[in-house]
Amino acid sequence: MDKIEIIKKLPTPCYVIDEQALINNLEILHGVEEKAGCHILLAQKAFSSYCTYPLIAEYLSGTTASGLFEAKLASEEMKDRQIHVFSPAYKDEEFDQLIDICDHIVFNSFSQWKHFRNRISKDCSVQFGLRINPGYSEIETEIYNPCAANSRLGITLENFEPDELEGISGLHFHTMCEQGADTLERTLEVVEKKFGKYLYNMKWLNFGGGHHISKPDYDTDKLISLVKKIREKYDVEVFLEPGEAVAINAGFLVTTVLDVTRNGMELAIVDTSAACHMPDVLEMPYRPFIISSETAGVLPYTYRLGGPTCLAGDIIGDYSFSKPLSPGDRLVFTDMAMYSIVKNNTFNGMPLPAIWLLKADGSTKLIKEFGYEDFKRRL
Ligand SMILES: *Cc1c(COP(=O)(O)O)cnc(C)c1O
Repeated sequence: MDKIEIIKKLPTPCYVIDEQALINNLEILHGVEEKAGCHILLAQKAFSSYCTYPLIAEYLSGTTASGLFEAKLASEEMKDRQIHVFSPAYKDEEFDQLIDICDHIVFNSFSQWKHFRNRISKDCSVQFGLRINPGYSEIETEIYNPCAANSRLGITLENFEPDELEGISGLHFHTMCEQGADTLERTLEVVEKKFGKYLYNMKWLNFGGGHHISKPDYDTDKLISLVKKIREKYDVEVFLEPGEAVAINAGFLVTTVLDVTRNGMELAIVDTSAACHMPDVLEMPYRPFIISSETAGVLPYTYRLGGPTCLAGDIIGDYSFSKPLSPGDRLVFTDMAMYSIVKNNTFNGMPLPAIWLLKADGSTKLIKEFGYEDFKRRL
């Protein structure tokens, strides 16, 4: 049976992680690691379904975390792999735990570095880095642009303190989002121009995330040559920490049509919510793809799909189908592994979708189910 037919039989709403699709992404990323001689880390903020961490560990060098909890998750669930962390600001009470868990700790400012460096013991094996803000990015959505005016993310050249670098072994920049190697090339030019003179004294440079490496049209040869160039010129190790590229197209969200109504057009209410289960649809915003659908008006039956919450804007999008929709029909959203499972919420008392794993051999395994208690416990 085809995999879509298999997952359409699962109770809804549910996320389904597609193990084979994940493996395909990991193989591409591992190939880059080998050819470029760099380290690739999973950015857990995009995808932290740790049932897959043993698999990911077979291909990648480790993970990066946005703070203590993600770092802890990696330390528990991905053994013997590197753990890096970056946070805009660390708390005093977290720092000793981070020192125990992490291989690299990246600071967002010289004030944070100066605050914490006194607490580092002489025999500490953790490497410390600074996030720089090169002031160059090609991201047009402001909410995702770390180089926007007055951004709090990273140290600009004006605020860089070259006299305070003792104990710092690397620099980190993260300025990309769903972009290609050509964007990286232009970004590196600015990074080198502004911060290159400091790189000669560093052990590593972290290129951050936002590299769309596992997209079919991505120019991996260019990425590999850029990494090699930086490695050779400055004698540094290079790290990349993609989230999307690990989990892109590696999951589904399966939903059931609950009702079909009309107000100027056909409306369908489904048992999944954009606001609760795929918040990037509203935040990014984007229109997720549904298997066997087209954009409005292409196929004979067009519907505006919305969630069962009270939010007027809980609209997933307009889709057309070859047959009319009726209650009970299953719809399958694609590319729902990344930035969905990690971001969901129970607004309106919405149930959280169960998480299933579609294994490479075609069998399905229930990973987690959620119920009323999960909603109540957070309130
Ligand atoms: C978001 C983020 C990433 C991962 O970004 P993707 O777009 O998912 O590849 C990596 N590093 C940092 C610092 C980030 O904020």
